[in-house]
Amino acid sequence: MEKITGKSILKGIAIGKVLFYQKKGEQSVKRVKVEDTETEIRRYEAAKVTAIEQLNKLYQNAVKEVGETNAAVFEVHAMMVQDGDYVDSIRNIIETQQVNAEFAVATTGDNFSQMFAEMDDEYFKARAVDVKDISERIVNILSGIENSGDIGEEPVIVIAEDLAPSETVQMDKEKLLAFVTRYGSSNSHTAILARTMNIPALIDVDIQTEWDGKLAIIDGYSGTLYIEPDAEILNQMKKRQEEDKKSKELLLQLKGKEDITLDGKKIKLYANIGGIKDVASVLANDAAGIGLFRSEFLYLESEDYPSEDSQFLVYKKVIETMAGRKVIVRTLDIGADKQVDYFNLDHEDNPAMGYRAIRICLDRVDIFKTQLRALFRASVFGNIAIMYPMIISVEEVRKIKGIVEMVKKELDEQEIPYGDVEQGIMIETPAAVMISDLLAKEVDFFSIGTNDLTQYTLAIDRQNMKLDNIYDSHHPAVLRMIQMTIENGHKHGCWVGICGELGADPTLTRTFLEMGIDELSVSPSFILPTRKNIREIRLQEK
Ligand code: PEP
Ligand code: MG
Repeated sequence: MEKITGKSILKGIAIGKVLFYQKKGEQSVKRVKVEDTETEIRRYEAAKVTAIEQLNKLYQNAVKEVGETNAAVFEVHAMMVQDGDYVDSIRNIIETQQVNAEFAVATTGDNFSQMFAEMDDEYFKARAVDVKDISERIVNILSGIENSGDIGEEPVIVIAEDLAPSETVQMDKEKLLAFVTRYGSSNSHTAILARTMNIPALIDVDIQTEWDGKLAIIDGYSGTLYIEPDAEILNQMKKRQEEDKKSKELLLQLKGKEDITLDGKKIKLYANIGGIKDVASVLANDAAGIGLFRSEFLYLESEDYPSEDSQFLVYKKVIETMAGRKVIVRTLDIGADKQVDYFNLDHEDNPAMGYRAIRICLDRVDIFKTQLRALFRASVFGNIAIMYPMIISVEEVRKIKGIVEMVKKELDEQEIPYGDVEQGIMIETPAAVMISDLLAKEVDFFSIGTNDLTQYTLAIDRQNMKLDNIYDSHHPAVLRMIQMTIENGHKHGCWVGICGELGADPTLTRTFLEMGIDELSVSPSFILPTRKNIREIRLQEK
């Protein structure tokens, strides 16, 4: 048995087989001279068939999850894999240069992608990314490497150097028992996703490839990973898992109960989600609404810009499933650790302070309008609110309002109905806190993003694992910022919530209530423990 320590992201126990996950495109493709070109061509043909099978499966799954329009990209990829020119080029390179299939596919991918990128037509330009993607897929199959997010059919503990949010979000949640990485920080989006999915995770672990296929246990309470555990540890951990199950069952008795303190202060307890798949656990944990729908995961999950219709269908489904409970959708917040290939964003030395979130939306207005149209169209099916990330000025909010008016006017002209939609902003920069009195006059609500607010207040990159131990959301500067935001919000008619990870911190529930917070939005699995806390608090001395 090996016993390794790491940093835990979520308390809980996972027991299962290890899958050592290698990122797609991580391997470099080598040019190898071959004698037998026939065998190489056969290897290539077999990989092509597998790629088509994978893409068809992805298409069918995507249709169920995000609708036909959004899923169409996988159909297009399957067609591109079979394209005559593309196939001929690969075969030619193998035959004429007498090289391995991997090299021929990668070279063809590079050549075609460059050719597309140089075209004037926007549609063909965008295909540059697709052709690279399908070539990577085939190379991965040839090299026996799992494709992005593909973790097979059995439940596994995924072990990887690092995981990008776009990879984690594509993994089948039913099969993902836990994950362990060498890199990553407790406040990265991959860590947040683990908490949203309620799966134990460890970071900062000296991972080894030879663990692949072995039995492992993750003890998220102590931050320990056991490889090939002995019988004693296995029994101990199975017992702990049983106890966890029982305490969860006890918490379930709080379903249907009010979020109210002993002395009658009521609060809205909402849930954070990354996508439609998380709605089931929002309902299972009885949240009163969704306080943060990180809509950028729709963009991260797809291979091209999600269309208005495909987004509309997702929002509509979430709103309808929530049956009248509030759903606050945060508009696209990409950049920093959430990179989307097809946006073709330039490399930045300091992306956390770079071209991201609302800055992209106010610059690439077409993308923003597509999302707003989808949201407004969906608004007639339930109780939706929209909030905007990374705000630093009143001018930004006014620009947003101008675009919203434009979208509404267009919908009016097209006689497309929409409902009343509450408009709010995230308070996650010190600038927004300092002018929160002015911002409050512009919007209906504030939602405090403590993850970024801590990062920018303390000047600590939330992704930097070396600084994880001093990234302190309890810092008095952060708590004062929260207090100031609540006071200014209330003075000028805004309700104020917290949707950053700090909202679920049980040691601060009383402090937030004393500050007058109106809403807390937490990962679904933290709803019932937070409800328990709230119901045990008495604010006024008797
Ligand atoms: C935050 O910054 O606190 C927040 C809720 O947004 P995200 O974690 O997605 O940046
Ligand atoms: Mg944020």
